Amino acid sequence: RCMIILKSPREIALIREAGKVVAEALQAVKAIAVPGTRTIDLNRVASGVFQKYGAVALFKGVQGGRGKPPFPASICASVNEQVVHGIPGDRRLREGDILSLDTGCRLNGWCADAAVTLAIGQVALEIQRLLNVTEETLAIAIREMARQRKWSQVAALMEDYVHSHGYSLVEKFVGHGIGREMHEDPQVPNFVSRALLKNDFWLEEGLVVAIEPMVNVGTKDVRVLGDHWTVETKDRRLSAHVEHTVAITASGPQILTQPAA
Ligand code: MG
Repeated sequence: RCMIILKSPREIALIREAGKVVAEALQAVKAIAVPGTRTIDLNRVASGVFQKYGAVALFKGVQGGRGKPPFPASICASVNEQVVHGIPGDRRLREGDILSLDTGCRLNGWCADAAVTLAIGQVALEIQRLLNVTEETLAIAIREMARQRKWSQVAALMEDYVHSHGYSLVEKFVGHGIGREMHEDPQVPNFVSRALLKNDFWLEEGLVVAIEPMVNVGTKDVRVLGDHWTVETKDRRLSAHVEHTVAITASGPQILTQPAA
């Protein structure tokens, strides 16, 4: 049974504080995400931001399941055909790459989670189009949360938008509730499925969710690499991923993973 924990305005304010730190970490990483930078260097910068605020990196040490190593870093750095959960390492970014950066932290007991996909240097026009569509998919979701009553209605619009551009949406990974834990109920898929219709949820005040569409140029199907973490598209065509932690407040949906003003 799905157990959604609604948050009070005070709790949402605390999640927003964690969200500011996540946003600052992503901004700091973005500043050095240029051709030649190693993905492990990006990880060091993000960890430094968390340390500065006394925040705990949420991804580091996440269990990978029986016999698999825990995730070793503060960020996921997924390049090109990699979808999510890329492990930072010695790989150097190259002009024309795209890089999905995903990170989260816990601050004063409350979690926030966000991701961006960056163009490294100049990317081809059709790659920029993928990034634009992915960002717009998330923007549509946040906007429509103010107008629809149930998540399935929002997910249907996200799916339609992506398909109208000839892209596919990854179904293997979905968004999630977030609060004291990084992953809480409900599951927040970016598409409509029988499972969602069975576990649909109301868009009501106090709901806090991490919404994270993953948009592929080709097949929606993915596989996990031999490092037990990195997920790539089965056809090895490009994938982009964006995420915000979003709350529904008395005045409507609000993005909590934004930089301090
Ligand atoms: Mg997430």
